[in-house]
Amino acid sequence: MDPSVDTSGHRLLIIDDDPSIGAMIARVAARAGYQTLVVSTPDDFLQRVRIWAPTHIVMDLQMPVVDGLELLSQLASDHSTARIILISGAGDRVVDAARRVGTARGLSVTAALNKPFSIAELESVLQANRLEDPWLTVANLSAAIERDEFFLLYQPQVDLRSGAVPAAEALVRWRHPVRGVVSPLEFIPFAESSACIDRMTQWIVGAGCAQLRRWDGMGMAMRLAINLSARNLHEARLGDQLEAQCRGAGVDPSRLTFELTETAAMRDATLMTDVLTRLRVKGFGLSIDDFGTGYSSLVLLHRLPFTELKVDRSFVSTCLTSKESRAIVRHVVDLAHALHLHAVAEGVESAEVMRLLRELDCDAAQGTFVALPLEADQVPDMVRGHADAPWYRAGAPWAVAG
Ligand code: C2E
Ligand code: CA
Ligand code: CA
Repeated sequence: MDPSVDTSGHRLLIIDDDPSIGAMIARVAARAGYQTLVVSTPDDFLQRVRIWAPTHIVMDLQMPVVDGLELLSQLASDHSTARIILISGAGDRVVDAARRVGTARGLSVTAALNKPFSIAELESVLQANRLEDPWLTVANLSAAIERDEFFLLYQPQVDLRSGAVPAAEALVRWRHPVRGVVSPLEFIPFAESSACIDRMTQWIVGAGCAQLRRWDGMGMAMRLAINLSARNLHEARLGDQLEAQCRGAGVDPSRLTFELTETAAMRDATLMTDVLTRLRVKGFGLSIDDFGTGYSSLVLLHRLPFTELKVDRSFVSTCLTSKESRAIVRHVVDLAHALHLHAVAEGVESAEVMRLLRELDCDAAQGTFVALPLEADQVPDMVRGHADAPWYRAGAPWAVAG
């Protein structure tokens, strides 16, 4: 397709040998928000299909030079994905037959109109066939970064020995002008499938560092966990970039821990070892996220320079009701300690689970029982007022010791 062609929006190509009918359909369609193009010969039609890639086609089945069925078969061999609306003056049976032929060849014939049809009928067919506007595109994500539509929430992590709150995990959200607050589960996978994830991660690290500096200014020296995507690690200079970004913001790299899922870390072990080692050399912490849910070779884990292991919430949240989950949590904590890694449990949803984690000698806990992901300005009260919070009082060891 010609790259200079505007391919945004709904593009309707109309073929009718009667120019006045073609023009009338175009007027109605333009009012319904379509870009339109009218042609009257098959050659013109097929050429436009190829260079303009219409999203919709209105086709008269009876034309003097060529019949509509022939055009449908051409469209099928071109693998057209356009929504096709057929028009015919030959009655329902002919239209139905043509519709079946088109569908059988993999075309998307979505409506048929019998001549003569009213403008209201045409309008309603065009309205019904609009596509949902794609909102998740590279262009939209980039524009959203420019417009500052992303923001971070911070979920506190409790030190299970002291009951203090020295760290939080940054969790991104999109304040979308139409869709409201959008979960990362909806847009991160898309960003990861395109190069967008690098810009997003850069934005997230920048915003996280700026927030750490604001908390510093309030006398609160926090550490931050930030999620990285596997795709971020394809860039060998990632360590240099992240270090420069942190130092530029006045944040020592040792205050950031990057979380990676084990599957991400296991892909292309040689490259990963290189990139992750560079991050460690710069002083960043490295955490294995969702541990226990992916595939991992323990040997490789041992070789990769991780500093922390994060027990997946599916085991943590069920560790009171399932013996197996409890055994997994216990062994993952032990494994972490045997490898000199910090053990963090996520998905802590009750006082009982927190106490059990304390007994299992887990180092830190994160979950709704302690705090939901918070807005940045809610964090200081949470961190300073923690001794009055229910989770603190329920977490016996420090409360009793204090
Ligand atoms: P994750 O890294 O495993 O993040 C933890 C998720 O668990 C968060 O969901 C958090 O809100 C939720 N959660 C916290 N406490 C509890 C609990 O007690 N019980 C349960 N059931 N869930 C809890 P969220 O914020 O929707 O993030 C979902 C996923 O999106 C994250 O999973 C992470 O994979 C991804 N993500 C979030 N922020 C970022 C980011 O900044 N960058 C990248 N690359 N991925 C991100
Ligand atoms: Ca995480
Ligand atoms: Ca996780």
